[in-house]
Amino acid sequence: MSLKLTTRLPLRAVSHSPRHRPRPLSLPRHLRRAAPARRFFWPPSPPVQAPAQQEHLVHDATNEGQLDGKPSRHIAVNIDGGPRAFDTVFLRDSCTCAQCVDPDSKQKLFQTSDIPHDIQGSCKTVEDPEKGWMIEVEWENDVKGYGSEHRTRHSLDWLRRALNVELELRGCVRNDERVLWDKERITKDNKWIDYEEYMASDEVLFDALSHLNQYGLLFLRNVPDSEESVVDVAGRIGTLKDTFYGRTWDVRSKPKAENIAYTPQFLGLHMDLLYTSNPPHLQFLHSLRARAPRGESFFSDSFHAANILHQASPFHFRTLCTFPVTYHYHHPTHHYHYTRPTVELFPYPKYSEPTNLAINRVNWSPPFQGPFEARIGGENQIALRNYLAAANAFEKLLSAEENLYEYRLEEGECVVFDNRRVLHARRAFDATKGERWLKGAYVDDDVFFSKLRVLQEKFEGRWIAEGVVRHAVK
Ligand SMILES: [Zn+2]
Repeated sequence: MSLKLTTRLPLRAVSHSPRHRPRPLSLPRHLRRAAPARRFFWPPSPPVQAPAQQEHLVHDATNEGQLDGKPSRHIAVNIDGGPRAFDTVFLRDSCTCAQCVDPDSKQKLFQTSDIPHDIQGSCKTVEDPEKGWMIEVEWENDVKGYGSEHRTRHSLDWLRRALNVELELRGCVRNDERVLWDKERITKDNKWIDYEEYMASDEVLFDALSHLNQYGLLFLRNVPDSEESVVDVAGRIGTLKDTFYGRTWDVRSKPKAENIAYTPQFLGLHMDLLYTSNPPHLQFLHSLRARAPRGESFFSDSFHAANILHQASPFHFRTLCTFPVTYHYHHPTHHYHYTRPTVELFPYPKYSEPTNLAINRVNWSPPFQGPFEARIGGENQIALRNYLAAANAFEKLLSAEENLYEYRLEEGECVVFDNRRVLHARRAFDATKGERWLKGAYVDDDVFFSKLRVLQEKFEGRWIAEGVVRHAVK
């Protein structure tokens, strides 16, 4: 089957040079079967030689009898050299005209469930002075209450983005920029940011949060000696996450103190609050006093370890993706309890085969583990044995010397890390020889990604809204 270009509008100053002649195309197989109800639009010709829009419009041979403007259930647009079909339900549902989305509140004014199953669209292309080439759809059997004047416009840029399932479903934060690290890599790439610059400049903040999203680890220096500083550092991103530990909390040890909240002993690699349904995303630790010898912090990138494990043993990796591990915090006044697998993948079809990009989160907090809740016996006994082998292999990778980044926080320094990715631990320290005091806070993932998207939009124009790819504001 071949496609051929047809003219939709009366010719206006059309160049008929061979460059603009229709050329036959063969359709991808998946489109051949369903071709009759579809029509194809081509992206703009090179700007200088693009005098008319007829070249955007393509019909396949079976559509030849239909004129443009005839409604159909699918509309195919040529994106980067290939026809891509869009369901009219999708195009209608994502309409952002003032009738469909309130311009002030940005709230959607109709429901997806209101869209009639037999809705059809007829389409033409228009050139918007600001948004570039767009398709404009006129509706047949539109949502009840919408008049015949209702039109939906989508830019080609927006449609291209809509095809990018990975980016869309991850809220436009690019996971393919993540850098998995071992000791050598993070020692080389580690980032230190000055507190004053972090607080004053959005550009520095964007740099800091982008790095945090790539590596899961960031350091600040010259942080003022105040219990409130950690509130300022975390609050620069957004609302702090309150937990039963408080809005901020202390990891503090004084010689001969009446209450030593935390023991000075070794604390193994772990993540915080995995016994809650939504553990904190970012953790902040500001060093107010570091006068006790030792007490180094160390960090390990669990995504890196999981990635290596996946390469070495897909079976172990899959076990960690499926076997349920229970975490709890069981005390007289608080009883938290949550069960989750060790590795959580993004639930997208694209990643039916897990890769390093498919990892969404890792859960690893041995000190807070409770009894397993998988039914024990029969096949599950094998599952438990499989988990034991996988957990053992994973732990070896997490705590391998070449994967650990060790650093002793000095007074006035603050570490920020992704609590769903980077494990933290602390060496024992000598509490009798001086004071050690860290002030901590948490920020949720929603808050972090919201700020990152806002800054991305401001500095890189990556986020799309209102049917247009926004360009960076310089
Ligand atoms: Zn609309």
